[in-house]
Formats: sequence, C-alpha cells, structure tokens
Amino acid sequence: MSSTILSTTIAPGALKPEPQAVKETTVGNYFVSNYPPFSYWKTEQVPELLKALEHPPKLGTPLGIYLHIPFCRKRCHFCYFRVYTDKDATAIKGYIEGALKELSFYASKPFIGGRKPNFIYFGGGTPSYLSVDQLKHLTDGMKAFLPWDEVEEVTFECEPGTLTDHKLKAIREMGVTRLSLGVENFDDHILEINGRAHRSKEVARAYGYARELGFPQINIDLIAGMVEETEANWKECIRKTIELAPDSVTIYQMEIPYNTTIYKEMKSEGKLVAPVADWETKRHWVNEAFQELEKVGYTVASAYTVVRDKSKAKFVYRDRLWEGADLLSLGVASFGHINGIHYQNQHDFEPYMNKLVDGELPVYRALKPTDEERLIREFVLQLKLGQVRASYFDAKFNTNVREKFRQPLQTLKDWGFLLMEGDFIRLNREGLLEVDRLLHEFFLPEHRQGRIT
Ligand code: SF4
Repeated sequence: MSSTILSTTIAPGALKPEPQAVKETTVGNYFVSNYPPFSYWKTEQVPELLKALEHPPKLGTPLGIYLHIPFCRKRCHFCYFRVYTDKDATAIKGYIEGALKELSFYASKPFIGGRKPNFIYFGGGTPSYLSVDQLKHLTDGMKAFLPWDEVEEVTFECEPGTLTDHKLKAIREMGVTRLSLGVENFDDHILEINGRAHRSKEVARAYGYARELGFPQINIDLIAGMVEETEANWKECIRKTIELAPDSVTIYQMEIPYNTTIYKEMKSEGKLVAPVADWETKRHWVNEAFQELEKVGYTVASAYTVVRDKSKAKFVYRDRLWEGADLLSLGVASFGHINGIHYQNQHDFEPYMNKLVDGELPVYRALKPTDEERLIREFVLQLKLGQVRASYFDAKFNTNVREKFRQPLQTLKDWGFLLMEGDFIRLNREGLLEVDRLLHEFFLPEHRQGRIT
C-alpha cells in the first residue's frame, strides 16, 4: 500500500537545494532530535527547571518517563551514546538505586499534578543488559512511585544477544507493550566489523520467542550504510525483515558523530570522509526499503519508520514528545522536558551518581525555550512525520505557520520537496528522506550552524 502523501515525486524541472549538499559522509550529527540545539542548554539555567517542578502541569499535558540504561556488552564502532561496557553488578545495582532515588525526588513535586505516566521508554545503552532480578526490582520500584495502570505504551530497547527466553518472559510480564530489537543488519560479517555484540542467529531466536509471548508490538531497528554495506546485502536485509513481518521497522541512516570509534580511527589516519556509503546511497537504500515494505502492505509513518498495520502500530513516545508532552527523564545523560523547560542530566557516571548520593538532582544543563522556539521545535519535529497541520499551530500557538515560515516553506517548495494542500504542509518522499537537513531552514538564524550533509 502506498501513501499518497509520501510517494508524491518531485515536479519535473524543480530546483534542487543550493548549495548542493556534501555527498560524502563526514563527521558530525545529522539527526535533529530537539530544538533549540543542545549546545544552547546551559548549567546557569538549571534553577529554571527547579522552579518549574514547583508548579502544577498545564492542563491536558501528558506525562512520560524515559530511563537511560547505559550498559552494553560491547561498544559498537558507530555508537555515540553514553554507554559503559565495564560496570560490574555492584555498579549496576547502585545505578538502579540511583535512578529510583531520582524518580522519588520528582514523584513528590507539584508538576506531577496527580498525573500517572501515559508512556514509558527504556532506552540505552542496552536495557536488556539488566538481569531479570534487576529489571524486576527496577520496574516494581518505578511503579511504586508512579503507577503504570494508565500507560498506553511501554517501550523497551533490546540487544538481541542479551535476550534469554526467561528474560523476554519477564520483560513481557513487567508490562512492556512495544519491544524494540536493535537488529541493525542481518549479516554476521557486517555486524562483526561494526562492533555489534549480537549475531543473526540470536535475532531469529529472540524474535521468534518474543512473537510467541504475544508482545503487542515488535519493532526492528536497521541502519542503512554500516561499514561494508553493499546493495546486495541491503536487499537481503530487506528480504529478511519482510520474512519476519515485524509490526514496525525503524531505519536510520548511518551518521558518524565525533565521539564514535569510527571517527577516532578517521582522525588518526587523517581522513575526512568516513568509510561508509555517501548520503545519496543511504537515502537510496532507505527508499528501497520503504518501497519494498510498501509492496507487502506497510505504510511509511515517518522519515524513519514503516508500520504494518497503521491502526494498531503506534509510537506514543514519539508522537507525544513531538507534541510537547512532559518527559521525566532519568539516568545518566538523559534529556527531558518538564513544564516548558528542557534539561539534560549529568553526562558521566560518577558525577551523576555523586549528585544523587549528595541528595541533589543530577541535572547538568537546562534551557527555557521561548514560545517561538517551542513552536519551531514542534513544527520541525512533526515535519519528520511527513506532514503537519497548519490548524494545529493556529490552535496551540495562535500562529499562522504559513505566514511565519513563508520563506523557508517557499525554499523547500522551490527545491521540490514540499507541497501545501489545504490544511496540510507535506513533504514528498525525497524531502522526507533528507528531512533532517532541511529542518535547519526553519531554525532561528543563531541556531543554524552545524549543518552536516
Ligand atoms: S548497543 Fe546501542 S548503545 Fe550499545 S554500544 Fe551499540 S549502538 Fe551503542
């Protein structure tokens, strides 16, 4: 089934972006996950968060919880997350107690306003690295502070090689509704040279058992453009994905941020171009996957996701977050948003733990976005879905986005990526495939540095 919104092609003769994007994959972040960019969040603004905790929530704002589990069996060569591969059971136990202590601090604050979590997300790192006992202790503790009886979705990220049948059963029993398997690729050689800990055999076993256990939704993550990826292998990855028939598939285009092993090697060898496919090839691979999955009934639901059954496969965490929900974020280096304030926790293990031991919130930096910045944030994040409704912004921000963004909208239209249809502002497929690069056009001038592709 093909989506009319997303399969619209560029009009013949339409202008291409000027200046033309650098095609090779060079170092830096491509993915836009928040706004204003993190580099504008400051330690001096942490008191703004502390003040915001003392106020009741804005009526109708959903509450979510994110917990970062920063442990992995191995560090993947492309990984840029805060992860540790050397923590023993005592350190992990201490971390779980720390996260619960952090939650206890928030749970008694007025910003909760009697709300129960609407969605929960266990990200990493590798949440499935924890043992069954650790998981049980953690989730029982979380539920004691803020009960899960109103949650719409609990997402849990897994590295397939860490999943025993016993653990998967425990994960299902603790209330996970959306199991996300970090498959990334189905080829063992590619997995190995990219530093992944798991192999394809473990994917098949974990997926099969997860299906038997009846998780309401199973997502598979893939990465287009891992080191040594080829056209033939990518086709095989798509074929195997279709064979498994997951409820949703998330596909990222490989980026090489500064703190990756791949970049460190590039630097030591004096190389500027990463040893992975160029952006055009990666977009081609994602498009190929989208098209093949559409042929067997999937629908493109965002720049990165396809879903098998649109009426059933949801992603509440993403949708609520992109509509400005409160996100109570716990754990080292995690990013949250409470009562209009962005914040990030201490981004290293020791400082994070030390703050908790001292009885303080482990928040490292924060930012109070202006109303205009909040509007830009929601607009650019929602554009990643492929379309936004102008009326949503009229109602929520009392702003006509067609007027406000007249110039960048025209620019994207001239480049052949954007269409205005009634209430909708839509990206076509080509626009969607490079949406993160295009979003910078909507940023305030002071936030526009750092374009990567
Ligand atoms: S499993 Fe994920 S979080 Fe862990 S090292 Fe690999 S990419 Fe990073």
